[in-house]
Amino acid sequence: MSTPPRPHPADARQQSIAVGPSTRTVFQREVTFTCQFCDRTYTQIHFPGPTPQYCNDQCRVAARRLHTAERMRRLRARRATATHAPTKVT
Ligand SMILES: [Zn+2]
Repeated sequence: MSTPPRPHPADARQQSIAVGPSTRTVFQREVTFTCQFCDRTYTQIHFPGPTPQYCNDQCRVAARRLHTAERMRRLRARRATATHAPTKVT
């Protein structure tokens, strides 16, 4: 008796559809969206679901990194209210 390959939770976003006892057909459709990072409009084939926010993983990671950096910057700026000099990152 062989064990079927179990989909890893991390692979859930890979659009791998688990087919149970009955065959299930999932239709793909064209989704036009604007990437929240590079601000470009893309049309991609996607399975029905939430509209993607980023065109690829690179944008997603970069956006998240930027988001975190901005939040940290704001937090730091809020703490150092005495010094109100604009910090320039080179
Ligand atoms: Zn993008």
